[in-house]
Parts: sequence; C-alpha cells; structure tokens
Amino acid sequence: MMALLLAGVLVFFPAVRNTHPAADRLLKIVVIDPGHGGRESGAIGPGGTAEKGVTLALAQQIREVLADRYRTVLTRSDDYWMDVTARAATANHHRADLFISLHAGGGFEANLDGISVSIFGGVAGEPGATDSSEHLKTGLVPWELGYLRHVPENRRLASVLRRSLSKQFTSRPVSLVEAPLAVLAGADMPAALIEIGYLTHPARELYLKEADRIADFARAIAGGIDAFFSK
Ligand SMILES: [Zn+2]
Repeated sequence: MMALLLAGVLVFFPAVRNTHPAADRLLKIVVIDPGHGGRESGAIGPGGTAEKGVTLALAQQIREVLADRYRTVLTRSDDYWMDVTARAATANHHRADLFISLHAGGGFEANLDGISVSIFGGVAGEPGATDSSEHLKTGLVPWELGYLRHVPENRRLASVLRRSLSKQFTSRPVSLVEAPLAVLAGADMPAALIEIGYLTHPARELYLKEADRIADFARAIAGGIDAFFSK
C-alpha cells in the first residue's frame, strides 16, 4: 500500500510540474474585448438592452467555446468602465497572439443594421498610411502605428472571420471595414473589431437578446479564430 502510494506520488508530481507550464506556453493567447462597460453603456436598444451586456455575454461564450484550445483573456469580466487604450494595452501586456473587440453598435436611424469586421487602417495624410516601409525599416515605430507591421495578417484575419460569420449567417451580408478605430490603434498583434448587429434596430434587439443567437455568434467567431491559426 505504501509502495503504491509512493509510486503514485512519484508519478503524479513530476507530471504536474513538467507538463503544465509547457502546455500553457504552447497555447495561443487570445484576448477578447467586450466593448463598453460600466457608465459607458454603448448603444441602447428601444427595449432597453445595453450593448455592454450583449458584448460581455458574447465574450464569455467565446471564451467557453475556445477554452480547450487557447488561453483566453477577457479585457473586462464584469460590468465596469475601461479606457479605450487600456483594452489593447491588456492584449499587449499578455503578449496576445490575437485581439478581438466585440460590439453590437447603434445608429441614429432605427433601420440601420449589419454585421461587420473592421481592422485598423485608412488614415489618410498620416505618414503610416503612405510610407509604412520607412517606419518598419527604422524600427522606431510609434506605439500607435504598431499596427502597421500587422496589416497583412489583419487582412487575412478579417477575411477568415468574415467567411466564418457568412457561413453561419447566410442571409446577412458581412462587410469588411478598414478604419482608424481607437480601440485597435495600439494593438501589437493581429486585431479586429466585430459588430454583430445594431441594437438600435428593434428587430435586431429582440434577436440579440436570445441566448441561442449569442451562442451562434460565439461559434462563428471561434470558427474564424481557428481558421486564422490553422494556416
Ligand atoms: Zn460599441
């Protein structure tokens, strides 16, 4: 009995000590950013649904779907306010392999709606927009232009996310956007912002309140993340 116990101990502890940190390092790190939070509700639907709650529910679902194959970190795990620059900074701090910001925006007109995948870009007149090679060559890239080295991967990311979302939501067009979005500006890794629809659209608000729909989005976004890393 003692020998068996001893053998058990000898086998068990080295296994835990040696494999856990190594396994952890092998996992890609995905930082998911639920848009808005706390005093900043984001868009509010006609029925009172706040964007900050929808994005948090979606982020938690994505984390669940990804749990067995990535190390997933949420920029916020509850309903509190967070500065926009702190979101990408969290991803940089964790040396993330991927940063995804989630939104369910709003428009001034109730009939506006749509799914979109955005990446940082398109700053007309800024040196980075026309002369990225010089910035990359000198190695002195200002932090807010750190995205420049990720442009090709960002485009590939946007395209795989769009494909995965289009496969799940066949009746809804998914648009690709390149825009100088503050939340993505400081991200030093491939990064995208996903809008899953406009909460201010009355029918869309009802749709996004259904747990099954959030689960559909979580699966589709997780599918896009898998496709991105399976290259
Ligand atoms: Zn938003």
